[in-house]
Amino acid sequence: MNSTIQKMVACIFVTAVFLAASATAGVQTKLPAPDLRYRVEVVSVASGVEWRVALKMTGSAAGLTELELPAKWASRDDLEKGILDFQVAGENVVVEEISDIDDTIKLRRIHHKPGTALAIQYRVIRIGNSDPESQKDAYSPVLNASYFQVIGHGAWVVPRIERNKRLNIAIDWALPAGWSIANSFGVGKTSQAFNTSLQNFRHALYLAGDFRIRSFKVRNQPVYLAIRGDWGFFDENLADLTQRIFQMERDFWNDHSQPFFLVSVIPVGRPLDGPNIGGTALENAFAMFPAPRTQIKDLRHLLTHELLHNWNPARLGGSKEPEQLLYWWSEGVTDFYTQRLLLRSGLNSPEEFASAYSKLMKEYAQSKARNLPNQKIETDFWKDAEVGKLPYQRGMLFATVLDQSLREASNGKASLDDVMRDIFAAAKKPGAKPMDAALLNAAIAKRLGRSYAYEMNRYIENGETIELNDTALGPCFEKKMLAFRAYELGFDIEVTIARRKVAGVVPGSAAYEAGLRDGMTANGWSVFRGDTTRNVEMNVVDGETRKTIKFLPVSKAEIVTPQFYLRTGLDQKVLQNCGR
Ligand SMILES: [Zn+2]
Repeated sequence: MNSTIQKMVACIFVTAVFLAASATAGVQTKLPAPDLRYRVEVVSVASGVEWRVALKMTGSAAGLTELELPAKWASRDDLEKGILDFQVAGENVVVEEISDIDDTIKLRRIHHKPGTALAIQYRVIRIGNSDPESQKDAYSPVLNASYFQVIGHGAWVVPRIERNKRLNIAIDWALPAGWSIANSFGVGKTSQAFNTSLQNFRHALYLAGDFRIRSFKVRNQPVYLAIRGDWGFFDENLADLTQRIFQMERDFWNDHSQPFFLVSVIPVGRPLDGPNIGGTALENAFAMFPAPRTQIKDLRHLLTHELLHNWNPARLGGSKEPEQLLYWWSEGVTDFYTQRLLLRSGLNSPEEFASAYSKLMKEYAQSKARNLPNQKIETDFWKDAEVGKLPYQRGMLFATVLDQSLREASNGKASLDDVMRDIFAAAKKPGAKPMDAALLNAAIAKRLGRSYAYEMNRYIENGETIELNDTALGPCFEKKMLAFRAYELGFDIEVTIARRKVAGVVPGSAAYEAGLRDGMTANGWSVFRGDTTRNVEMNVVDGETRKTIKFLPVSKAEIVTPQFYLRTGLDQKVLQNCGR
């Protein structure tokens, strides 16, 4: 299950998790907004490095200051394990440990002399191996002997105040000699001061070490690329690609307002046969976690997708909590635009565009999660790999159908592009609310001329199968139905390998029909996972007999799904406009 998650060429945009109103809300509103001064000393230890953090701030005039420690973020619920030796010094300080007010929060209540200076100290240590082995592994602070890469949620102790309140924050870094430094708030500075919200401070990227820093400008605004590891491409090639993608997306949104941006690329995991790519969008930054040997063409999709999160959902007002219920929009519609913009810009060919849809249709047709209600995404997104893919698939298909409806209803004058830009414009206005189904429906209705609530309810909330019609992708592409057999191994490979005994053979499967049976001794095996074109070969001992059992790992029943192809004989003018 994990390997399937890792093979998703996708990311998840997870915003900060903050406590809503609670019994103690009255206390926090009385707290003044303190300025925070952090000092981070990066110290070598046996496992790599650790952070020794000192935080100076003024305690509240009421004599009570609440501090939040790292706890939960994205797929991590163990971030507190990385925080050691938490201490507070100051006049009349008494530290009270508060637990169980909310499982997303780890709190310390500090009683002190009103308005006194507080000096907080703690260490941040690595949870897990010094080199991250998966995206989840990289979601906790990576503290390696030659570099660190930290997402703020895993490292910063902050006062518990209103999430969007802006503060003046300073950080002084004491780094090992020769280390490069970059983070969401600047590049190359070991002494930093900035004004930001606590939410953005935590939802930010911090790195230093043996990174190679490259930069380029888009309309005079700098973008930095921090790369480490050896790749099969030059840093400059990646910088060129990144520059094109930034230009394309900022043009699409007509938004060149960001004065600074950081993209990091670190190898995560072990070299694999296929692309194994993840990433996460953060404040003024995103982090990419490709497997070693990933090729540059496989980074195109990820870069485009991650940067789109800069707007969807971040600049479209964010998603209303629980944000998982809008993943179909924040992830799926983002995937829709990833494909559209790559095609429009010429970074992907029409054939690549069509094959991305064909691949999606095949996966969607085989998905056991396909018809689950939207509610399941809230509960099982991180638990079940197929549920984890569902909002991407469902949202991209829904956006495709919606875009077609908008074009037809307006005789080609309007499209989903207009809806996206309308939401962006509305989100800039004071008092704008985060996105939810009602807000999206209102934005759609304005351009469509009618409510879309019936369709949203049917396909998103209830999870009915979304069908694409013959002209769903526009005049360049044709639809053909394909009958295929799904990959099905027909026995339990994990248990078989662990016990060296064949286990979990499914009666009636290709494995069963070839003669594989539970309990046979497994001496050797050749399995290309997910590949329906290569035989599985099992060297087994059945009683006294040694034999090799070969079979194609495919399902018996055929699945029928649409596939898309570029039409032949299109003239140049039509071809240039396939991305519409
Ligand atoms: Zn994403």
